[in-house]
Amino acid sequence: MSTLAIHNPATGELIATLPADDEASVAAKAAAARAAQPAWAALNMAERVAVVQRFRAAVVAELDDLAATMTAETGKPITLSKNELNGLLPRIDFFVEQAEDAVRDEHVFDGGGMHEQIGHVPLGVVLNISAWNYPWFVGCNVILPALLTGNAVLYKPSEYATMTGQQITHLLHAAGVPPAVMQCLVGDGRVGTAALAQRIDGVFFTGSHATGVKIAQAVAPRMVKLQLELGGKDPMYVRADVDVKAAAESLADGAMYNTGQGCCSVERVYVHRAVHDAFVEHFVATVRGMKRGDPADPSSYVGAITRAPQLALLRAQVDDALAKGATLAIGGQALPGPGNWFEPTVLTGVDHTMDVMREESFGPIVGIQAVADDDEAVRLMNDTRYGLTAGVYTRDEASARELLAQVNAGSVYWNCCDRVSPRLPWSGCGDSGIGLTLSHHGIQTFTRPKAWHLKAPA
Ligand code: NAD
Repeated sequence: MSTLAIHNPATGELIATLPADDEASVAAKAAAARAAQPAWAALNMAERVAVVQRFRAAVVAELDDLAATMTAETGKPITLSKNELNGLLPRIDFFVEQAEDAVRDEHVFDGGGMHEQIGHVPLGVVLNISAWNYPWFVGCNVILPALLTGNAVLYKPSEYATMTGQQITHLLHAAGVPPAVMQCLVGDGRVGTAALAQRIDGVFFTGSHATGVKIAQAVAPRMVKLQLELGGKDPMYVRADVDVKAAAESLADGAMYNTGQGCCSVERVYVHRAVHDAFVEHFVATVRGMKRGDPADPSSYVGAITRAPQLALLRAQVDDALAKGATLAIGGQALPGPGNWFEPTVLTGVDHTMDVMREESFGPIVGIQAVADDDEAVRLMNDTRYGLTAGVYTRDEASARELLAQVNAGSVYWNCCDRVSPRLPWSGCGDSGIGLTLSHHGIQTFTRPKAWHLKAPA
């Protein structure tokens, strides 16, 4: 039988060896999900809502244990693991409150003996291939609305967050989701590939652009509904009218939270040259004050790099920037093991010839570039293949709205960053992906509209 080894990225220690799926077990799980889905869809919404509410109660009851598991396998500081689980609760509440309305029949026309209505029917069996960086958020953004709207779910958690994926699955089963309706697939990308080969009605992916392309190619001939939530190179612009210290503290947090391993982590900052030097000074002071250390210690703010191969990419981006004339304001080094560690790093004097300003870092690295005016800032913010989030810090709301309207991004922020709301759609443009989760659209997306043309007998 194949197995999956789980290592603690903070120490390198082997913490579990899990039985893994293979092609045969993936096929059996997919067939079981297919068979079980109609009965699940036939329940009324109140019954499925009750299941999700029991799941929520279990998350609350077991929050400390769930956070400890997430910290052990991802290297996320324990305080941030608890923040993620606490942040999940309002998302669950949103899904539960909105599900009925989101899929209610829409009666759109009545006249001349004709009645027209739009129904929302479950897709059927959906495959969720997931990332490790916020495993509860990105998993539940798909799993919960998919289940609420009557789908069966094949869930392939990241190989770097599989124990968390198993806990999500276990708690859903304990809450009353039939095991065949919610199936966890254990393994790496090969198990993802095997899952894509099954008869599925939708694939909902969160991960890198490179893997997203492979997934799109794998399902292209089969007309399977496809959603891809991919990477970002999230830019922020600081105008000259801000409270410089407050903006620097906010953006340093947005860059380094989760050790910079967030799809909406601040990856690059453009600062009006009138306040650039003061901004850098406050930004670096804030980064210097962030405590890096044992992720299990509640006072740690910066944790481990979850995937060891990322260290080489971070190193290469720093070296590339320095070779092209950037200045290291703080950090810049991978730390000796055991475990995967990289110092929070701030580069100044950067420009767009450098990878650090145009390619996703997905780690605790940020470049700060001085700009002359709004036009230059907008041009540079849009000078990337990604389009996930972008923001502007200014006292002037009208200018912020005007600037943000020109930026290619799925989410835009005024005086805030690195933020996700269950009420708003989460989506990207360009190489940041297609489709969306969250908001009422992110519930409807697990259904297909069915058009009813009903003519009363004469
Ligand atoms: P990844 O692409 O390496 O892996 C994601 C998932 O795909 C894993 O479960 C992996 O096992 C699976 N996989 C790998 N190869 C596969 C294949 N050929 N076929 C099918 N499945 C395959 O990404 P990651 O390292 O887990 O996550 C980091 C990336 O995710 C970053 O780029 C980040 O920006 C992005 N991300 C995006 C969002 C968003 O909402 N847009 C959220 C979180 C993370």
